[in-house]
Amino acid sequence: MRVLRCSPPHETHGFRGDPESAARAHSDHLATRCLGRVSGRTSRVASSQEELLGLLSARKGHFLLESGQHGDLWLALDPLFLRPRRLGPLVGDLARRLSRHGVEGVCGPLVGGAFLAELIAADLDVEFSYAERLATPQRVDYRIPNALRGSVRGRRVAIVDDVIYAGSAVLKTLTDLRDCGAVPAGVGALLVLGSAAQRLAADEALPLERLASLTSDLWAPEVCPLCAAQVPLDHPAAGAGTNG
Ligand SMILES: [Zn+2]
Repeated sequence: MRVLRCSPPHETHGFRGDPESAARAHSDHLATRCLGRVSGRTSRVASSQEELLGLLSARKGHFLLESGQHGDLWLALDPLFLRPRRLGPLVGDLARRLSRHGVEGVCGPLVGGAFLAELIAADLDVEFSYAERLATPQRVDYRIPNALRGSVRGRRVAIVDDVIYAGSAVLKTLTDLRDCGAVPAGVGALLVLGSAAQRLAADEALPLERLASLTSDLWAPEVCPLCAAQVPLDHPAAGAGTNG
């Protein structure tokens, strides 16, 4: 199971901290949990958002996160791709939005971003590529495999991820795409948590297309408002089997 970009155990500032350190780098094999509040913008976005949160088995409650922080929303990421066809309408919606930007290819960081990139590339009938996660004790990078680097050169490529939280995987994929000679055409996500994705897109002067947005707050236990209200902690692993 993958953790939903909740901050790693050594962090205390949640996703608003340094994207380099609060990223998916810490997430891929941990439990799936995070939190947030729905903030839909239009009815269509709200509809996609409801559908997506349903597929993510979104649960409101009071949860202890991997970081030791507390949150009020639990999302299961990996089951999202168990039945690709269920994602069809959402993939189609995101693909249409990205197609406005002259996309000639779609690239995503492994794992979830690459799954989504392949589905969107199939929908748009453009080239698919992915970035591999390369981790050392010092840092995490994302790199396009050698066999694919030539194919993105000179092409307008959208960078997508299933959920963008700190945005580190997307940024490193984007940077490596530029190193390959690709032209980043936009950033896409099914779900954006917090404001990091918007900042990244603005910094890179790229359009950001997403189907859903959640504003997200992480609390240290001692300042958790749910604890203050004496709401008992939920344990989704026991009830839903969504962590691992
Ligand atoms: Zn709490």
